[in-house]
Amino acid sequence: MLRVIKRTALHMIKAAGVFGLVRDSEWRQRRLLILCYHGISQQDEHLWRPALYLEPKTLEQRLKMLKDGGYAVLPFGEAVHRLYENDLPPRSVAITFDDGTYDFYKHGYPLLKSYGFPVTVYQTTYYTDYSRPIFNLICSYMLWKRRGSIVDAGKELGLDSPLDLTTSHSRFLVERQLVQNALRDNLDGKKKDEIAAGLAKLLNIDYYELVSRRMLQLMNPTEVAELATQGVDFELHTHRHRTPQDELLFRKEISDNRKRIQEITGSIALHFCYPSGVYAVPFLDWLKAERVISATTCDAGLATAQTEKLLLPRVVDVSGRTPIEFESWLTGAGSLLAFRRKAAQKYAPPTD
Ligand SMILES: [Zn+2]
Repeated sequence: MLRVIKRTALHMIKAAGVFGLVRDSEWRQRRLLILCYHGISQQDEHLWRPALYLEPKTLEQRLKMLKDGGYAVLPFGEAVHRLYENDLPPRSVAITFDDGTYDFYKHGYPLLKSYGFPVTVYQTTYYTDYSRPIFNLICSYMLWKRRGSIVDAGKELGLDSPLDLTTSHSRFLVERQLVQNALRDNLDGKKKDEIAAGLAKLLNIDYYELVSRRMLQLMNPTEVAELATQGVDFELHTHRHRTPQDELLFRKEISDNRKRIQEITGSIALHFCYPSGVYAVPFLDWLKAERVISATTCDAGLATAQTEKLLLPRVVDVSGRTPIEFESWLTGAGSLLAFRRKAAQKYAPPTD
C-alpha cells in the first residue's frame, strides 16, 4: 500500500514538472548518482533473487531512460575526480557492476556497449580463477528450484533429513547448514563443488547442465581481459569477497585482488567497493594505506563534494523498482523527497 502511495505521489510530482526542475537544477549538477548492479539473468535468477538479478529487458529499459533523459554517463574514475573538482556536467551518472559475473559478460556488457555507456566492474577474483559456480549461491538457487517440496534425503551431505524446502526460511536453514559445514570442515573450492553436485543429485537437478551454462559463475581471466581491452574498467572488490576485521588480512584481500586484476588487465585498480556493502570505521585507514582512491557502499544516495571519498553512496537497482522510481533517482527528486531507502543488499557473498 505504501509503495502504491509513493508511486502515485511520484507520478503527481513528475506531472507538476518537479522532476525536470530538480534534474536541471544546480543542486543536481553538484551531485553524482552512482548506480549499482549485480547480475543480469540468464534464465530465472531474478525470480530467485530479485534484489541481486535483473532481467536483460529491465537493464535495457534503464539504459534507454538514461539515454532518452540526456544523462551524462561518465567513466567512474573521471566522475569521482570531477565530483571533487566541482566540475560535473549536468545530470551526471556512473554505472557500476559488482562481482564480475559471467552473465555480465553475456548479457550486461553487450547492452551497455550498444548504448556506448562506460562501466566499472568491481571484480572479486577467487572465483575468476576457479570456473565453478559460487558455492553458497548455487546451493541457494538449487534449493529454490525445488521450493515447496520436502526431500527425504540429506544425511549423505551431513544435513538434517528430510530437507524442508517449503518456505524461504526453511530453505535458508538448509543453505546455512551447507555453508557452515563447509566452513567447519575447511573445505576447498573443489570439495565444495562436489557437495554442490551432491546436492543437485539429491534434488534431481542436472548440475553439469547448470555448470555448462555458467550459472552463478564469475567471468574467467580470458573474458575479463577481453572486456578490459574493450574499455571496461575493473576495480577492487577483495579477492574472496570478504572484509576481515584484522588489518593484515583485510589488506591482503586488497593486495591479492589488485595483483590478480593487474595480471589479467594490465591496469592498477585504485577504486574499491565494499563486499555486500558492509563497512566499518577502521577499514578507511586500511584502504588509505593501500592507496585506494575511492570506495563505494550500498547506502542509497547521491554523492557530493562533501561526501567522504571512501564512503560513496550508490543506488542499488533492483528488479522490483518501477520506472518512475528509477527516474526519480536519476533526476534527484527521489533523494530530495526522502523516498530514499537503504538498499538492503541481501547478498550471500562468494567465499572461498
Ligand atoms: Zn559483491
